[in-house]
Amino acid sequence: MTAATEQSAEGQTERILGLPIRSMAPERCVAELDTLVEQAPVRLGFVNINTAYLIANDPAYQDALRRFVLLNDGVGLDLVSLVLHGRAFSHNLNGTDFVPHYLRSTRHSYRVFLLGAKPGIADAALEVLRKLAPQHEYVGSRHGYFTSEENEAVLQRIRDARADVVIVALGNPGQEMWIASNTERSGAKLAIGVGALFDFLTGTVSRAPLWVRKARLEWLYRLMQEPKRLAMRYCVYAPAVLFRAIAFGNGNQRRSS
Ligand code: UDP
Repeated sequence: MTAATEQSAEGQTERILGLPIRSMAPERCVAELDTLVEQAPVRLGFVNINTAYLIANDPAYQDALRRFVLLNDGVGLDLVSLVLHGRAFSHNLNGTDFVPHYLRSTRHSYRVFLLGAKPGIADAALEVLRKLAPQHEYVGSRHGYFTSEENEAVLQRIRDARADVVIVALGNPGQEMWIASNTERSGAKLAIGVGALFDFLTGTVSRAPLWVRKARLEWLYRLMQEPKRLAMRYCVYAPAVLFRAIAFGNGNQRRSS
């Protein structure tokens, strides 16, 4: 096991590009988050190969993520971990599966606000979540296309709704940058960056069949849906991240020795 690797009953942590990426059984993760939100506002993010590529190329994004709880998402990050630390992640904790699971399983009863996606989608996703996890109050939603001048009004809406949880779907890195700057001012205890979750919940974008997801081939399914955009991610980003992560790891070791 490398110095950057920790594994215990509480889960596994692998350091990638200077950030601790956590992996654990979903039930364990629910329990951990439930405890953390009682102590201080929690910013939750999911790191996949696209996020890792952005982190490798944007020091401000990397810095913003230092205050997040980061979970591993997808087979691309497994590959990076395998090459860097000799071990893949124990679980795949992508936001699309984990966030609905968290809302269904948490012992807390929250006031939930959805921020992001195209007009109409967050409203529709809110109704889907209301049925899926009825123990919470769904207190508002707002689409994700707004200017920095409009941000104060967005925050005021979240505060007026007295939201405990803000689920943010603004894409990467926008959603994490928004969470980093605004969580405290929003008054929320928990802010989660979820990518295309609202599109998936509403069927605006279709997910791979369950057997494909279980075979961990969802990336291939998505590649077939959006070949141009995603070919770039998988074919160029994954090797680039590996290269940068290895260089970053070596740099760290040199600095600490
Ligand atoms: N999105 C948004 N505002 C933006 C950019 C994106 O609300 O300024 C939404 C978009 O409509 C989608 C989600 O963020 O619902 C994820 O977008 P995308 O698939 O582009 O993100 P990525 O897969 O690149 O993280």
